[in-house]
Amino acid sequence: MRCAIVGSGLAALASYATLRHAGVPAEEIAVFGTHADPTEVWRGRAAAIRQQRMRSESDGHLGAAAFPGLALRERSLRALAQTVTNRYRPPVELFLAHAAGVRAQSGWDASFVEQRVERVRAVDGGLEVDGDRPFAHVLIATGHPGLARLPGAVHAYEPHAYEPRVAVIGAGMAAATEWRNALAAGSEVVSIRRREPLRRPLNVPRAYFSRRGLESFHRLPPRARVELLRDLGRPSYPPGREWDVDVRVVAEPPSGFQVIAATGFLKGWREDMLLADLVEAHGLETHDRFLVLAADSTVPALTDDRRTLSVAGVPGQWAFPAADTIAGAKYAARAFARRVCRTR
Ligand SMILES: Cc1cc2nc3c(=O)[nH]c(=O)nc-3n(C[C@H](O)[C@H](O)[C@H](O)COP(=O)(O)OP(=O)(O)OC[C@H]3O[C@@H](n4cnc5c(N)ncnc54)[C@H](O)[C@@H]3O)c2cc1C
Repeated sequence: MRCAIVGSGLAALASYATLRHAGVPAEEIAVFGTHADPTEVWRGRAAAIRQQRMRSESDGHLGAAAFPGLALRERSLRALAQTVTNRYRPPVELFLAHAAGVRAQSGWDASFVEQRVERVRAVDGGLEVDGDRPFAHVLIATGHPGLARLPGAVHAYEPHAYEPRVAVIGAGMAAATEWRNALAAGSEVVSIRRREPLRRPLNVPRAYFSRRGLESFHRLPPRARVELLRDLGRPSYPPGREWDVDVRVVAEPPSGFQVIAATGFLKGWREDMLLADLVEAHGLETHDRFLVLAADSTVPALTDDRRTLSVAGVPGQWAFPAADTIAGAKYAARAFARRVCRTR
């Protein structure tokens, strides 16, 4: 067994499919995770905010090859036409059906081991996962370290109904979705926000998904990179009339209102016990809440000609600002697969 993926969500599945597509046999990959179904965690959160459509576009799929995208899989002319102008947003149902197909076809279940990993360590000849083997190549894809909860509030990513009066805290995608949901449920809705919402179609500006945009990002010195990443991390939701809702902005939740925390996730490597342990044990370079990675999403101090430690998903932002998107997961996955294949 040569490769291990630690984590069992969408980024792990995209990485697994990419390795299999590159010719790595299922017997050479172990996936250590908490959920056999790689969509389970994401599906629960999307269902809690009643998400109907993806924020990402046709290319936000988990297949290893870029083609076909989700618009083609939808088999409608409308979807294809919308893709041309970047207006296509795949239905969540289509995305989940596609994810189930990737899981079945890739052989994911044969490699899955139910285990919450506590420790990854570099040793002679590779990396140990909870003291097991050394694996030559390990990819960490543990996702967000937990929900950013507020006392007395239900978190938007947990199941909830809407009371007649609802106060939503936050100004990002979840908040915007919740304003609409609660209004549709007939509730009176107020919004509590630290700043005016930022409107943009994708999590980060489109330039950062392109090679040129990334190259200029990779040239930034640490302090400027931290500032940019913090700025890009500000909550946002798409422009467009469907998102323009009229909610009253108040300073704090009025008494008698149900409080919904659309406050997203805890942030940074310190909040993820596995990463915090890894950083401390190996003295890894960090800046602010970000783990320093090479442009190919590897941990430089623990990666060489024979060994790879990569990070996919949100803790991979030092390499790819939109690491917490499906496109970001695939960026790390492809680089990881290239290294695995090169060092066979
Ligand atoms: C509601 C919502 C909607 C989104 N919509 C989109 C969208 O439309 N398009 C898009 O591109 N992105 C979207 N995203 C962003 C992103 O794609 C998701 O957050 C996605 O789930 C990230 O995948 P992940 O694998 O990094 O994390 P997750 O899917 O959260 O998976 C991480 C997995 O690793 C497991 N794990 C954690 N620690 C350990 C450990 N120590 N050992 C073993 N396993 C561990 C977790 O339990 C979990 O199963 C959305 C996010 C949310 C919350």
